Amino acid sequence: DTLLRVEHLRKVYESSTGSVEAIGDIDFEMRRGELICIVGPSGCGKTTLLKCISGLLKPTSGSVTLDGKAVTGPPPNMALVFQEYGRSLYPWLTVRGNVELPLRHKKLPKAEMRRIVDDALVAVGLDHADTKYPWQLSGGMQQRVAIARAVAYQPEVLIMDEPFAAVDAQTRADLEDLVRKLHLERGMSILFVTHDIDESVYLGERVVVLSKSPTWVQEDLVIDLSSE
Ligand code: ADP
Ligand code: ADP
Repeated sequence: DTLLRVEHLRKVYESSTGSVEAIGDIDFEMRRGELICIVGPSGCGKTTLLKCISGLLKPTSGSVTLDGKAVTGPPPNMALVFQEYGRSLYPWLTVRGNVELPLRHKKLPKAEMRRIVDDALVAVGLDHADTKYPWQLSGGMQQRVAIARAVAYQPEVLIMDEPFAAVDAQTRADLEDLVRKLHLERGMSILFVTHDIDESVYLGERVVVLSKSPTWVQEDLVIDLSSE
């Protein structure tokens, strides 16, 4: 059951100083319920790939299909979590307000909205912090709010772009366990992008490795979790 299909994706940036092949030929498929990591050093094209997948950037050639539909603009059934957690939360809204925000346009009955938000807050361990404001929380806790917002939105696919690059090691380990739990217990389909090989191998069932030397390359690894 293929959820996301990236076929022969290539992006060349053209400018007055010449052209840069940011991604050469990316090809992978993600099944529903899978957790895939995309790993590679700075400059290998991770941001470019994510922009193409989330419909923010038009590829030079190739295609992205989500749930059988070509992605040509931001898909409604996708949620994103970025590294800059502070900037993705609204400081004038409480934790609950931030998590509710993307659900508002769904016009759910009040009780249903409350149930979904409570469930997402419990999932990330923030059920006792719902009346706090983002600035009253640590960076790791703020990132939990961003994750709760994505969980409540119930996207077909959750995309995480170096989400834990800015938190300390212990917090990061806790957040990695949270991502793994969301995947295993809720069956969430997650595409996790990182420059950290250890993190990608720890988290991913499959790892797509991007590299840049001497030319642009993609390699696929399958991690056998049963041998651990
Ligand atoms: P990352 O954190 O993924 O390494 P960068 O710091 O490389 O991101 O890039 C930040 C932003 O600047 C991205 O949106 C990227 O598309 C853009 N960018 C990167 N390199 C260039 C460039 N040579 N010219 C114009 N924009 C660039
Ligand atoms: P990563 O996220 O892995 O750091 P990027 O996708 O940001 O990689 O960048 C891949 C390559 O494309 C880099 O060489 C970067 O400088 C270049 N690049 C990114 N965005 C732009 C842009 N808007 N214009 C020109 N070059 C860019």
